[in-house]
Amino acid sequence: MLDVLVIGATVFPGDGPPFAGDVGVAKGAIDFVTICHKDCGIPAARSVVDGRGLWLCPGFIDMHTHSGLISFDDPFLTPKLAQGFTTEVINPDGLAPAPVAHKRWRERQAYLQPLEGGGPETWPWTTVTEYLDALDDSRPALSLVPSIGHGAVRDLMVGVARVAPTSDQLRAMRREVRAGLEAGCRMLSFGLVYLPGAYADTEELVAMAEEAARFGAPLVPHVRNEGHGLLGAISELIDVARRTGAPLHLSHLKSLADESLIEPLLELLEETAAEIDLTFDQYPYGAGSTLLASVLPGWAQEGGASGTLRALASRTERRRIAHDVAHGLPGWENILGTLGPANIEIANAASPNGETAGQSLVEIASDRACDPVTAALDLMSESALDVTMVLHYASDGAVRTIAKHPLMLVGSDGIFGTRPHPRVYGTAPRFLGRFAIRDGLLPVEEAVTRLTSRAADRLGLADRGRIAPGKRADLVLLDPALYVDTATYADPCRSPEGVAGVWVAGVQVWQDGAPTGERPGGVVR
Ligand SMILES: [Zn+2]
Repeated sequence: MLDVLVIGATVFPGDGPPFAGDVGVAKGAIDFVTICHKDCGIPAARSVVDGRGLWLCPGFIDMHTHSGLISFDDPFLTPKLAQGFTTEVINPDGLAPAPVAHKRWRERQAYLQPLEGGGPETWPWTTVTEYLDALDDSRPALSLVPSIGHGAVRDLMVGVARVAPTSDQLRAMRREVRAGLEAGCRMLSFGLVYLPGAYADTEELVAMAEEAARFGAPLVPHVRNEGHGLLGAISELIDVARRTGAPLHLSHLKSLADESLIEPLLELLEETAAEIDLTFDQYPYGAGSTLLASVLPGWAQEGGASGTLRALASRTERRRIAHDVAHGLPGWENILGTLGPANIEIANAASPNGETAGQSLVEIASDRACDPVTAALDLMSESALDVTMVLHYASDGAVRTIAKHPLMLVGSDGIFGTRPHPRVYGTAPRFLGRFAIRDGLLPVEEAVTRLTSRAADRLGLADRGRIAPGKRADLVLLDPALYVDTATYADPCRSPEGVAGVWVAGVQVWQDGAPTGERPGGVVR
């Protein structure tokens, strides 16, 4: 007896052309796939799904998520399940809830809060294994694939100061990276604009990458500079990968400051990919989203959150920040100075600034009768740094040039919130439904491949990403006529229509526009 039988769907196997067929599921795995669906001795099934007119794909894989603490509040990760995602890579950008020093978890929680949510009120973990155990106990509906975060490791062993690790500390950091990879992490993430990851020099990255290379784990960097210094920042990581032999997967590829850099960037990546194992991910939007504190120069963020708040309270330091935003600093991407305040809007802000969500820094400054830099600094100060922004930087053409590139995989970079960037609700339907199905930017089969088998291969997950006998039954059944992104910057919390069903390990987790209540996922180790 089968558990699930989907009949008559157009089956996208994940690594080849689609065909009309039936798919049977038993004991969490795909039992058979056949193109014959009339009287050919198919066994009975507990659940028979009429797939006629619909597409059946392997469950989608999100290569870059901020879902590492969300499951404690929403184990369905509803906006993700609603798009057909069944596997998510967590702990990107060097940021992670573990490892963390016993005395410092509150500080880490406060730093991660705007990006990842706070997780449980009291964190019951310090090590990566303890964190993954707790996350598993939250019983998420989908699978979570952890990374070991370099920033978290540095914070544990060196602290928040802008110093180089001693040789003892560096050895201890290597040990933590190894421990994370042994605990089941599949990638080593870097956030070279976040603290304290930004304080690492190239040699420190090489030391960490040597450990990743021993496990064949890809380096996953948010590079040091996505502005005018983009090519140099990418080259640094290429150099690290080349020297250590670690695979390289660049996070959220983009050019913040100058679209003319995209062509040479893609040429550089193509040349490099001929020589080393290289891929990248992208969210299919021309705006980004992160901490508002990312508009500050590095010196103003020294000493962690308390140091940053001290700088924001000092008149002299505020003047210096305004000067640096106006004139730039060597090597610093200077988001506010480069993009201008009209292109930066608030996504979420903690009390007392909740109502600024959706307003640009120009609008907020005019309401407060001050200049936009002052407005940004006041917001951060009043809301204790718990403020995120949406920053508009790229044309649709630039986004599509990157999206159609064969080295591209899909990473939503989705940050949950009451008024989030629409990518947390719309990434998969925008890439597959809009770019591929409607606009023909890339072949549909290729788009499905990138959301499924190529992503699984990148993560070394041989059990999923394909519809074939023996593979895990992670599946999404969708109506191609309805499946397209509806989330916008003005109205971001909108899930796509046309997702008829989502299954994780053969268990249906999404039906008729809502979670079924089943939570068969967990941490992949
Ligand atoms: Zn990032």
